[in-house]
Amino acid sequence: MRAVVIGAGAVGVACAHYLLEEGFEVTLVDRGEVGRGCSYANAGLICPAHSEALPGPGIVAEGLRALLRRDGPFTIRPRAGVSVVPWLLRFWRHTPEPIYRRSTRALVALSRLSFELFEELVRTGVASFGYRRGPLLTASRAPHWRREAEAVVEEARALGFEARVLGRDELLGLEPALAPDHLGGYALEDQGSGDSYRYVRSVAEHARSRGAEVLERTPVRRVLVRAGRVVGVLAGDPPREIPADLVVLAAGAWSPALARDLGLRLPIQPATGYSVTVPAPEPAPRHPVIVGDSRVVILPLDGRIRFAGTLELAGFRREPDPVRQRAVVRAGLGALRERPELRGAEPWFGFCPLMPDDLPAIGWAPGIAGALVATGHGTLGFTQGPATGKLVAELAAGKPPSLDLSPFRPDRF
Ligand SMILES: Cc1cc2nc3c(=O)[nH]c(=O)nc-3n(C[C@H](O)[C@H](O)[C@H](O)COP(=O)(O)OP(=O)(O)OC[C@H]3O[C@@H](n4cnc5c(N)ncnc54)[C@H](O)[C@@H]3O)c2cc1C
Repeated sequence: MRAVVIGAGAVGVACAHYLLEEGFEVTLVDRGEVGRGCSYANAGLICPAHSEALPGPGIVAEGLRALLRRDGPFTIRPRAGVSVVPWLLRFWRHTPEPIYRRSTRALVALSRLSFELFEELVRTGVASFGYRRGPLLTASRAPHWRREAEAVVEEARALGFEARVLGRDELLGLEPALAPDHLGGYALEDQGSGDSYRYVRSVAEHARSRGAEVLERTPVRRVLVRAGRVVGVLAGDPPREIPADLVVLAAGAWSPALARDLGLRLPIQPATGYSVTVPAPEPAPRHPVIVGDSRVVILPLDGRIRFAGTLELAGFRREPDPVRQRAVVRAGLGALRERPELRGAEPWFGFCPLMPDDLPAIGWAPGIAGALVATGHGTLGFTQGPATGKLVAELAAGKPPSLDLSPFRPDRF
């Protein structure tokens, strides 16, 4: 059986890996370079305990005004266009508490499965990316920090995670790189982190070494369907047919256009996130830290640190918004005791594939044999890549999936 995987990001490479494990001949196709999409310079968290759905009572409490603030953690810009209006209505319908809880349970289950698989991928040498395990800290200067910390810790414990509230001294003891004027925070214990780009490259390289064909700079123009079944893709410049018995759509934020070839409407909005990678200061952060209200992440990498965060609905922008990029840097710098060197900083922005309920689309495209969908992972695609790849391969091989896939049905909208 020949499989074509469209998109070589965190999700696509995992699909390629697990399809090889199931005995498929695999071609992994990307219109650019492996790992250069949204999986390039993200916040690097592998965080089952921080996998809550975005639409929820919290967003409602923040209110519409917060959503329109240009430098806020989650914002909507007019340039998102009219297509964002029906998307927002659906998003809003998913904010009531019971729906939020149901979605969060589904996301946590997917992230948990991934966490186990990451361990295995690292242990067996499939992936190498500076993987670390330890606490994910949140540091706050807000006067009401304790109330918020207690609520999050309680919710995390209810989901079966170890978590604890940290007073100022405990927080600074765990993470001496933080500025001393923090008041407190909390720790979600035993989460993972690493360099997502290195992860994607290593898994793709491993797949190549096992016989997968990896085609870069090869845009897929159409998924070819004949008599109700997938027969391949039309790809490259000039376009040529790549025959396949199975096609996996894992093209991140760019998936909706190709989904139309499968008669499927995927309501994915590209949500822009920003990051800036700089040389590590001394003392360097030891653990990933979420900076209070800004929700910017400080990620320790070897010899560098990365500030990453914010979500913005503004369509596929060509240039970054300097206001938002500055807000990320300001939040990161302000949280640290020592200022890192900014010369040589690497700014980046990427497009998270965001579904209105913040759940990915994983499963068969209905009505067309041989078409699988693996996209729409929003802000959790690095975390959930391995589980998605495993589930896709199980479906492709006709095995019962390791998780209930009904919350992730691609045609649920
Ligand atoms: C600032 C920021 C911080 C984040 N932090 C985290 C985090 O800490 N933890 C976490 O889990 N997630 C995080 N995310 C989210 C995560 O990065 C994404 O969910 C994930 O990268 C999506 O992976 P993907 O493989 O679906 O998409 P991508 O990585 O975007 O890959 C899709 C690929 O498809 C290719 N493609 C598109 N169209 C075509 C076509 N027609 N033909 C061929 N190829 C095509 C693209 O070139 C691209 O390489 C963050 C995102 C951002 C922006």
